[in-house]
Amino acid sequence: MTSIPDITLNNGQVIPQFGFGVFQIQPDDTATAVSTALEAGYRHIDTAEMYGNEAEVGEAIARSALDRGEVFVTSKLSNDAHEPGEARHAFDRTLKALGTEYVDLFLIHWPLPARYGDDFVQTWQTLEEFYREGRARSIGVSNFQPHHLRRLHGETQIIPAVNQIEVHPYLTQDDVRTFCAEHQIAVEAWSPLGQGSVLGDPVVRSVAERTGKTPAQVVLRWHVQRGDIVFPKSVTPDRIRENIDIFDFELSAADVEDITVLNKNERTGPDPDKFDGR
Ligand code: NAD
Repeated sequence: MTSIPDITLNNGQVIPQFGFGVFQIQPDDTATAVSTALEAGYRHIDTAEMYGNEAEVGEAIARSALDRGEVFVTSKLSNDAHEPGEARHAFDRTLKALGTEYVDLFLIHWPLPARYGDDFVQTWQTLEEFYREGRARSIGVSNFQPHHLRRLHGETQIIPAVNQIEVHPYLTQDDVRTFCAEHQIAVEAWSPLGQGSVLGDPVVRSVAERTGKTPAQVVLRWHVQRGDIVFPKSVTPDRIRENIDIFDFELSAADVEDITVLNKNERTGPDPDKFDGR
């Protein structure tokens, strides 16, 4: 029986450490994929307005036998909506699309310094409103570097509950992860499989052979043992079930270290200091 650990965020809210990501899942395929994930035991779904599939995520949750309170739902602010008035409209749209009165976690998707300068501070203050209203049970950021987080720390009231950043064996992000640990900000690792790029690595494959697990399971287990929150994406039912089946084995400290040293600082996505969100 799968048992997913919970992580307690800096505001006392609890998040399942393992979930399901729906980036690049076509709207027509999303409700089926999320239903498969819920049936397999996932209780945490990560979406965003920019993924274009919030409504289908909401539909799958509504169709399931689960209560709303049993599924942790994250969404994120569109890159086009950082200005406070726009952010309020975007958040209303997200709740409407999901068909829910609250999200468990709402994130600024990207800091976008090349587009809005340092205006992510006022965007964050707008998310603080959603938090105070209870419509976002937790608020956080995504793709923030330590220097962005320091600005929030100095100028705003609430410390982000999470920072969702690209992390996988080829991009271990130990500087950002250390900063977050020192400031009680939980790390969520996006593209935990490097969108599949790390699965053919000889080190990963040899650990997989030795443990009798698949490369994807080894990499996801590596994340979990490092303490990060993960939500791999797949539309293939067997892979959806395979990915969650990682709570019955443990990697040795040496295996974790062997995978960590594969780091090449290699991003699959944009550089947060340069990305303008378009
Ligand atoms: P991922 O690392 O989860 O890789 C997904 C791909 O890996 C799949 O398309 C498939 O090709 C392959 N895969 C999945 N399971 C497999 C298995 N068992 N065996 C073999 N191949 C397998 O990549 P992702 O979707 O980019 O990231 C996961 C989630 O992170 C997203 O769905 C989204 O929720 C989030 N995300 C957030 C941001 C952000 O800016 N905040 C950016 C990208 C992704």
